[in-house]
Amino acid sequence: MTSPQVSLDELRDTVRRVATGEIPKYQDEQYYNTVPRDLFSTLADVGLCGLTIEEEFGGLGLGSEAASIAIEELASVDLGPAIFLSVHLMVAGLVRAHGSKEQRATVLPKLASGEWLGAFALTEPAAGSDAVNLRTEWKREGDFYRITGEKCYITSAGWADLYIVFASKSPGNGPQHIAAFLVETAPAIASGALKISKPERKMGCELSPIASLRFDGLKIPKTQLLGSEESGYTVARTGLFGGRINIAAAANGVAASAISSALSHLKEREQFGQALIEFQGLQFMLAEMKMKLEAARAVTEKAARTLDKEPKGAENRLLSSIAKCVATDAAMSITTDAVQLLGGAGYIREYKVERLMREAKMLQIVEGTNQIQRSIIAKELQRS
Ligand SMILES: Cc1cc2nc3c(=O)[nH]c(=O)nc-3n(C[C@H](O)[C@H](O)[C@H](O)COP(=O)(O)OP(=O)(O)OC[C@H]3O[C@@H](n4cnc5c(N)ncnc54)[C@H](O)[C@@H]3O)c2cc1C
Repeated sequence: MTSPQVSLDELRDTVRRVATGEIPKYQDEQYYNTVPRDLFSTLADVGLCGLTIEEEFGGLGLGSEAASIAIEELASVDLGPAIFLSVHLMVAGLVRAHGSKEQRATVLPKLASGEWLGAFALTEPAAGSDAVNLRTEWKREGDFYRITGEKCYITSAGWADLYIVFASKSPGNGPQHIAAFLVETAPAIASGALKISKPERKMGCELSPIASLRFDGLKIPKTQLLGSEESGYTVARTGLFGGRINIAAAANGVAASAISSALSHLKEREQFGQALIEFQGLQFMLAEMKMKLEAARAVTEKAARTLDKEPKGAENRLLSSIAKCVATDAAMSITTDAVQLLGGAGYIREYKVERLMREAKMLQIVEGTNQIQRSIIAKELQRS
């Protein structure tokens, strides 16, 4: 696809074609716990890796609404590619918003072309929901910084070429000490000061591995600071606005896939001499599932459009959390009901709805758990 001609309908059609045509060949154990680089390159070939990056850097220059359409389509086939692309686009968004002219010129073309895969390293063993209290430390040494600490559960760790790493000058003493750094994998590994663990074995989302990073006094040039020495926490927070909308979109894709599987099954399967779809109790379940999905889509679209219209607007904090919570809770409920509607088959791997249920569970946890989203929403209300 090339911009500026790309319409959102064209984007949806293209992503649907690529997702249904390309992803299934990677839904095989040999690819589990890897980011299949061929698949990432295929996404890059149709412009998805640079979807939200300006055209001057090789991207399509589209916004959050377009990203959520693409992510929903990918997730309806498999959550993995939707997640690694979502994180990659979040990294690109942060470089666009906070990067220096040089950083933008160097990094964005590599992210847009798919030469580099981006990752976001905030969570630590002792600081998950409480990210302000992260322990990873930075020290300034002349024209360099040194980073020491550990990150865990990092999407694409081991496959990413660039990490945005958050560290504090004075751990435990407030967000104003947190800075964000661009860490290139190849030189960091070559220096011996970055170690990456094996991927975690997790409940689902097999095509989006997570692993831990260990920094032992990693030395990086001062030009790799993203934003200012005090702005890291703001960088993380603003990145999560778009990220949470993408997670909502992914949840909508997972939920749509569950509804489609359940509907097909109810039409095909007969019990008591009639198709299951004829039972009113099951019809009502199906109707509830669809109602939840369409409500979630509406709030996701509203959050994405608001972010596109006013990227620095105060409403983004509230709307992105609402969208994330509404859509991921809906996906959990819809996928659980889909398993129930398939009966025994719902519990069997071959029928895929159990996979969708495992995928939905992840979405209630990542990018701030749904409890944390609720506390953000409540704080925004208290403030108003
Ligand atoms: C598949 C996967 C991919 C991930 N990818 C990334 C990534 O790319 N980058 C990254 O930085 N991180 C990533 N994470 C980490 C993720 O963002 C964290 O797991 C999440 O923010 C929760 O942190 P935690 O695991 O430490 O849970 P905890 O903070 O220990 O929370 C445990 C429970 O307590 C609840 N809780 C905590 N504090 C409160 C409170 N104040 N009020 C009410 N309830 C509370 C939580 O909601 C949760 O239910 C990923 C995690 C997973 C599982």
